Amino acid sequence: MGSFVWDVLTLFPEMVTAYLDAGILGRARKQGAITVGVHDIRDYTRDKHRMADDYPYGGDPGMVLKPEPIFRAVDCVREKTPESRVVLMSPGGRPFDQAAALRLARGPQAVTLICGRYEGVDERVVQRLIDEEISIGDYVISGGELAALVVVDAVSRCLPGVVGDERSVTSDSFYRGILKHPQYTRPEVYRGLSVPAVLLSGHHEEIRRYQRRKALEKTWRNRPDLLEKAELSKEDREYLARLQRSGGGRPAGFEGF
Ligand code: SAH
Repeated sequence: MGSFVWDVLTLFPEMVTAYLDAGILGRARKQGAITVGVHDIRDYTRDKHRMADDYPYGGDPGMVLKPEPIFRAVDCVREKTPESRVVLMSPGGRPFDQAAALRLARGPQAVTLICGRYEGVDERVVQRLIDEEISIGDYVISGGELAALVVVDAVSRCLPGVVGDERSVTSDSFYRGILKHPQYTRPEVYRGLSVPAVLLSGHHEEIRRYQRRKALEKTWRNRPDLLEKAELSKEDREYLARLQRSGGGRPAGFEGF
């Protein structure tokens, strides 16, 4: 399988490359599982001041990214990678989650991410250039770079060969609709806290059942909304009903599951 091709359009390329050089993504790039082109939007300006932003019409405060450099940068990406899906990072976009990450990972194997700054980008970019707008959550950050990195990271982890052991992706939180169970490493006892005995028992079936219950419990406590959509077995439901009856430990305001 070929490389998944990412292109990132930004006014701060060094922010983006710093993250992409290290860790799992750095290794994925070296091994060729993903390719990332980071493009400085300013390189696509044509005036001597390399102006990428301007005042908004209508008297709003702040600055808006001009359309021309972004259109030219996307044209340039499309010459090389015509199939690239063009995405604008925006707090007004569709919320990003694990399902969206899996969808993007399925293809087309090329995505261009546009990082806004200041008040955002000229609306004609939205009208003409982009296939979708993505938000990483209901809050505003200062630029699209962090948001784009979240998307590159989450989607790339879903690609074959990026995370060393694929089981660690499929057992991650959200992948199966609920949060991941708590984990322990050595030492066996630390500051008086012991690793649960069942994990040392070697009984795989018991360990699996214990971890499933702990995952359900954590989800019930922190993210009961996830339980409404999760695929639950009869045993899962019985366990949750028992938790519900005991009532302990869930913050006020969460009703049912
Ligand atoms: N004035 C805009 C916010 C601009 S923030 C508004 O109210 O909608 C500047 C840039 O940061 C945005 O253009 C976008 O690219 C990025 N950004 C900020 N918050 C984001 C979020 N939650 N998800 C994705 N991108 C975000």
